[in-house]
Amino acid sequence: MYFSKALSYGIIVFTLLFLIQCGVDHNPEFTENAPEQNFDISTVIEVHSGTMPLVISAPHGGTLSPSPIPDRSCPNITTVRDRNTTELAYDMSEQLYKKYGVRPYIVSALISRRKIDLNRDLYLATCGNRIAMDVWHEYHRQIEVAIDAAVEEFGKVVFIDLHGHGHAVQRLELGYLLSKSELYDSYQDENVAEELGEKSSFRNLLSINEDVHFYDLMFAKDAFGTLMEKSGFPSVPSLDDPFPHSSEGYFNGGYNTRRYTSEEYPEVFGLQIEANFEGVRDSDINRMEFSIAFADAVMQMINRYITDEI
Ligand SMILES: [Zn+2]
Repeated sequence: MYFSKALSYGIIVFTLLFLIQCGVDHNPEFTENAPEQNFDISTVIEVHSGTMPLVISAPHGGTLSPSPIPDRSCPNITTVRDRNTTELAYDMSEQLYKKYGVRPYIVSALISRRKIDLNRDLYLATCGNRIAMDVWHEYHRQIEVAIDAAVEEFGKVVFIDLHGHGHAVQRLELGYLLSKSELYDSYQDENVAEELGEKSSFRNLLSINEDVHFYDLMFAKDAFGTLMEKSGFPSVPSLDDPFPHSSEGYFNGGYNTRRYTSEEYPEVFGLQIEANFEGVRDSDINRMEFSIAFADAVMQMINRYITDEI
């Protein structure tokens, strides 16, 4: 009696184990999320080493849709592509090289944002997919490698996260991690600007160099935005367009800008550039003209705050 009861328990346990095992093998979700040993991450990220203290990341211009990574489907994701921003990063490099003989470090995504968002924290970026997580780690590792190399050679580095926006007003939206109302408050009062600068993407520069004032970085005649504006590329914030109005669209900087200009990277400062489409990204000639203006403006920033030997 005892033996046959034990035997039937044994059969039940064995059957359950068997079913669980089969369930695991045939669960499509598990298969989808299993590590893919053969996936070559270098096919979806492009990296160029540089010769100047500038690191450009272009996370949203990719078009590749590798089948081992499913389209993301978790809540609160954005999948729209920032058209021609990868090309724009290379044009910026080309113009820097033509005029100044130097090249920025570039880390760009070739993979579509439907698969991974390389300007979000790990979970939102990947929705938990294991291969996508490997891609995310590699993208950020490459940015860190670039930052380390530039810091070793030049001491400090400018980080730019490059995007394209679809807002109505055709101007560059320069993101310094301050909101529309914080930019407004900074413009009204230089003391407020000084305080808000401490939480901006220029915070590390401000703590390295006490002679630099946040108000000037945003609104002066030689602020980055003002220089771009003077070259024919309207920008906010800048001398003539100091803050976006409350009803206007404005991106003030995402995950990458926050991360790489934080106190964790004390030699890094920079901004997010959200380029409008018309007049900047819409043709080869406009991309080139934008890149010429960018090269002059960014070199001015580098010559003043990092090294005048370039
Ligand atoms: Zn973007």
